[in-house]
Parts: sequence; structure tokens; C-alpha cells
Amino acid sequence: MVTATVEGSAVDVRGVSQHFLSPDQVSFSALENVDLPVNAGAFISIVGPSGCGKSTLLRLITGLAVPTTGEVLVGGEKISGPGAERGLVFQDPNLFPWLSVRQNIQAGLVARGVLASKKHEVDEFIQLVGLESFADAYPHHLSGGMAQRVALARALINHPKVLLLDEPLGALDAFTRMRMQDEVLRIWRARGTTMLLVTHDVDEAIYMSDSIVLMTPRPGRIERIIPVDIPRPRDRASPEFLRLRGEILELLHFAGN
Ligand code: ADP
Ligand code: MG
Repeated sequence: MVTATVEGSAVDVRGVSQHFLSPDQVSFSALENVDLPVNAGAFISIVGPSGCGKSTLLRLITGLAVPTTGEVLVGGEKISGPGAERGLVFQDPNLFPWLSVRQNIQAGLVARGVLASKKHEVDEFIQLVGLESFADAYPHHLSGGMAQRVALARALINHPKVLLLDEPLGALDAFTRMRMQDEVLRIWRARGTTMLLVTHDVDEAIYMSDSIVLMTPRPGRIERIIPVDIPRPRDRASPEFLRLRGEILELLHFAGN
């Protein structure tokens, strides 16, 4: 059994701007003066049109990129590069095709040379994502939802304090997607990991998050942060859910113009 723990760290994005060169060599602002404080253990969704800087913001929090101005703090400390305490999961699960489910999940432990002392955790995480009977299967035998569960377990086994999810469920069919939303929420509750989810799906954002960050493009900025004060588990057909959905879709419609 994986026991309930609070592993999450607070994230604080302070005055962050990210400038890039466009293909015709003109400097533009992919993110402009973004402030985003996130409490330890919170679940935050980021929603906004393509190109508004959502992936750029997640990359800055992973430390894979350095902001032009501003800073990112995790657990009160300024980050200066990638680290195992910040995990990233993409739309493409990117599994190693020549490794079994178990070997994919333990790959990070092998790379860090700690497999021998953490071997018992591999079974815990296989169990956490419900893949006990597929532990020895190879990626080509897995459905899209199972492959994405392996990717989640592979990130979670490093005990990240922050998990960054960049449209991780975007390629799944509607039913698998809803099951995976519950799976991610269950893991979130079990581990207390701070989670930041980028999604195009407003229903997914409302169903899962403590609050929703609406971003607008050119330059990429935070338009507003909307708290979701609906008790969990949430009913997608409840009047309060539908009211918030209408409100956010309207805001996104205006943001697109
Ligand atoms: P989103 O994830 O919201 O769709 P991105 O963060 O991927 O948006 O991109 C924001 C903007 O920055 C886009 O115009 C994109 O083309 C540009 N961009 C992202 N990364 C780079 C880069 N490394 N070099 C130049 N432009 C980039
Ligand atoms: Mg993106």
C-alpha cells in the first residue's frame, strides 16, 4: 500500500517574462510579466489558446529553460536547472519500446543508481497506477491510457514535489480520458504532489482543479485566476459546474478575439 503523504512543494512564479526570436528574427514576448503563486499540494489547471505560452511556462518551472526576466521558486528556493523533484509528463508518453512496463517505471531509479534500495517502490507504483497484471508487458501491447499510466508512474517514482502535466490526456478517447482524470486525482490525493495541468478541455480543468489559470496570447499573460469552489467528487452535469463552464468559455471566446 502507498500511504498518504504530502510531498508537494509550493511554486512561486515571480515577474517572469520569456522573450524569443520569431522565425524572421524579431524578438517577441512568449510570456510577459507572469506572476503565479501555487500552494503546496494544490491542483492548478492552465487553459488558453494555442501559443499563449502554456508549455513555455511549464518548461520554466522544470528548469529546462531560463526566463529572460523574473524567477521561479519551488519550496521557497530559486531553481537553477532541471531536477528529479520536478516531473514532467507530455501528451506523448514516450516510453522506451524495448523495455517492459516495470523496466520503464524503474528507469529513473536505474539512471540514479538507487534501484537496489528502492526496488520495493517499483511494485508500489505499478499498483498505484493499476498495472499489476501488465508489469511484464511491452509498450506495443498497451492501450493509450495504460501507456499514459506508465508515464505517470515513471514520473511519480522519483517522488516529485511538483508534477507538470502538459496536455497528458489530450490523445485519449473521451471515456479513457475521464477514467484517467479520476486516476490522476486519486494519485494527487494519495501523494499530495503539487500538480500543474495544461489542458484545452475546460470540463477537465473544472473537474480536476482547485483553481484555473486563464492565459491570453501576444504577449502571453495571465488573464485571470478562477477558483473552483465546487465540492469533490464533482458532477459534470451540476448547475454550478455548468455555470462555471459557461463563464470560462465566454472569457476564452473574448480572449481569442
Ligand atoms: P502553448 O503551449 O500555449 O501553445 P508555447 O509555450 O508552446 O505555447 O509557445 C508560446 C510562443 O512561443 C509560440 O509563439 C511559440 O511559437 C513560441 N516559442 C516557444 N518556444 C520557442 C523557442 N524555443 N524559440 C522560439 N519561439 C518559441
Ligand atoms: Mg503547448
